[in-house]
This record gives sequence, structure tokens and C-alpha cells, in this order.
Amino acid sequence: MSAVDMAPRDEIRSSKRLAALKRTNLLDTPPEEAFDRLTRLATMIIGAPTSLVSLVDSERQFFKSVSSSNENLVKDRETPLSYSFCQHAVHSRRDLLIEDARMHPLVQNNPAIVKYDILSYAGIPLIDDDGHALGAFCVMDSETRQWTSQEIEILRELAALVLTEMKLRSTVIGLREIDRMRSELIAVISHDLRNPLTAILGSSSLLLSRGDSMDAEDKNSFLQTIHHQGERMLKMTEDMLRRSKAEAAQAPMEQKPVDLTAILERVVETFKAADRSTKFAVQGPADAIVIGDEGMIEQVVTNLLDNARKYSDEGSPIKAQVTVEDKRILLEVADRGRGIEEDLLPTIFQPFQQVDDAQDISMGVGLGLHIVRNFVELHGGSVEVASRKGEGSTFTVALPAPNL
Ligand code: ADP
Repeated sequence: MSAVDMAPRDEIRSSKRLAALKRTNLLDTPPEEAFDRLTRLATMIIGAPTSLVSLVDSERQFFKSVSSSNENLVKDRETPLSYSFCQHAVHSRRDLLIEDARMHPLVQNNPAIVKYDILSYAGIPLIDDDGHALGAFCVMDSETRQWTSQEIEILRELAALVLTEMKLRSTVIGLREIDRMRSELIAVISHDLRNPLTAILGSSSLLLSRGDSMDAEDKNSFLQTIHHQGERMLKMTEDMLRRSKAEAAQAPMEQKPVDLTAILERVVETFKAADRSTKFAVQGPADAIVIGDEGMIEQVVTNLLDNARKYSDEGSPIKAQVTVEDKRILLEVADRGRGIEEDLLPTIFQPFQQVDDAQDISMGVGLGLHIVRNFVELHGGSVEVASRKGEGSTFTVALPAPNL
């Protein structure tokens, strides 16, 4: 069996892991001092000729940072996976220590031994907050070498700093995105709120100037327009307010025990009070406790149930279920409504994305799911959707279970 055949492909190619890797926005980006400083430190302190921040992609490893006396490594900045030692640290999610690569079953046939002159390796997996191993921080030597516990400890500390740097970077990207969305929001306000406002002003000035001579039917029709357009504006304003809250990631977020089943039941009751026709089936244990902000979590539940209701025929059943797993609490909202086409699924969590262009704006402005994802991610969770056009959709929110 060749080295390539022995590579742990399934784990490496897991779509969730690859999506998390992509979200770092680090692949194929130029070297940055913040990372280079850490690889330089590793080579200096540990006295090894090479140190890497290697991000393990589906078919290659990309070096976000290389500090090496080997010019080829510095120049290449990536290798096929068959040359990667780090992929094994990613696969096992554990530190990988190799004293003599020629004798080690995982890498003895690895062509990097010759091409990059590597005989010993110590790598620490870079595991993000969601538990995805994205790559490894490593040192390599052209001599065989027994790694000391102190060297491994230093590597672990530096790897933790690499992870902090990655997190900071994604926060900065998030803030830039918020800024971009603010501008978008202003565009929407000036564009979309103007139409209903024009209709309200037009109808009301007609009523004021000619109301006395109008028959009751005409009057009523103008009043209906004013009322309907007023409702549209209210709906849009509420959506925007929710969204600006969603964006306020810097705003203090409560961190209290929150009973997810109780919230679900409460939200369903509110929906039932407003509209008796929707059939909700609710299930959840009493111990579904998550730590977080009750208002935000209630908004997540509300938006998902509201969508399930909006995009289903009247009377169609909606199932909402909470389950407690070892490390996660899941909320599943399933409807048998109109569903979403597969190729549109990746876009629905983006702001202002609506699948059906012709849909009435009173349905929303395409912010609901964006808010859901923002709020859930602020709680360290994730949200997924499974849907088939014409058959229905299931949204699943996974929140971390509290460490008791
Ligand atoms: P909106 O305010 O338009 O409802 P959302 O962000 O909540 O915005 O949803 C974005 C789009 O995703 C919606 O316009 C709709 O086309 C689609 N969508 C969301 N939830 C569902 C669902 N349960 N069933 C079918 N389509 C849905």
C-alpha cells in the first residue's frame, strides 16, 4: 500500500471540516506577520530548521506561514496531501511526534522525506471552537530527533496562539461584514420603505382633499391601502431592528441558563393565539438547558417557526422538537411546505436573500435566517437546513450543552 493510499481521506474530506476551514478565510492568502512571528519563534526556541502553520485542505496542505531554511518550502507554500505529515495530526486530532520518519508507519513512504529533507516531526492539531481540526502547527528537522516534553509544551502554547490569531481574524472579518451590511441597510431603507410611504401619503392626501365627496367604498379602499402599507412598513422595520441587534455582536450578551423547551412552548403559544389554523406538534425534554441570551434564543425559535408557517399551506403540520445529546442541544423545526431548491440552499442565510423574487414583501425582507445564523453562532452553535422543493424543509440548530 502506498503512502497516499494510507492517507485518512474521509475525515480530511468531511464537508463540515472543509466548510469551517474555508470560513477562516486563510486559504490562499499572503503571509502575515502575526502568523510568521509564531513560526519564527518555534524555530528559534525549539532549534528546528522548519516550522509551519499548515491548513489541511481536501487535496493539499496550504502553509499560512512557513519559517524554514529550506527554500523550496518557503517558495511552494503548499504541497499535495501526499506530502503532508500534518494531515495525520488532523485526522487523529492528537499531537503527532515522529522521531525518525523512515521508520514511522504513517509517513515512511512520504515523498516529503526526500524532497524537503525531513526526518523528524512534531505537530499539534489546530482545533477550532466547534471541534474541527483545521490543520496543524508543527516543527520539522532534517535530523532524527527525540522531542522533549518541554519542546512539546512550547509547541502547544504557540499552537494556541495561532488559534487565537485565527479567531481574531474572523472577528475582524465579521465586523467588516457588519459595516458592509449597514450600507446595504441604508440602501434598503431608502428604496423599500419609500414605496409604501409614497402610497400612504398619496392615499391620505386624497382622503384629506376629496374625502367629503367620496363614496364609502372609495374611502374604504384608500383606508385599506394606508393600513396595509403601514403594516408592511412595520414588518420591515421590525426585521431591520432585529437584524441590527443581530449585528451588535459587541453588545453585551446575557450568559444565563435558558430552558429551550420552555421557550419553544411559549413561542408556539404566541403563534397559536394569533392564528389557530397552523398545526404545531411540539416535543422536548425538561432538561434542555443552554447557556445564553434568552431574548436571542427566543428570536431564533420565532424566526424558524415563522418561516415554517409562512412557507407552508394553511393547516399544514409543523413539527418542532428539542433533543438533548451528550455535548449538544438540538432544535429541529420541520415543515411540509414549499421547500427550497437545492442549489439555492447555500444562499438563504445571507442577508436580503429571498428564494422567490416575486414574493410579497409582507412575508419578510430576507433577514430572518441571517439573524438566526448570527444569533446561533454567537452562542457557539450552528444551523443547518435540509429541504426538498415541494416537500418541505427541516432546520436544525445545534447549541453547545453546558459543561456541568
Ligand atoms: P424572509 O424574511 O424572506 O422570510 P428569511 O431569511 O427568513 O427571509 O428566509 C430567506 C428565504 O429562505 C425566504 O425568502 C424563503 O424563500 C426561504 N425559506 C426560509 N424558510 C423556509 C421554509 N421553512 N420553507 C421554504 N422556504 C424557506
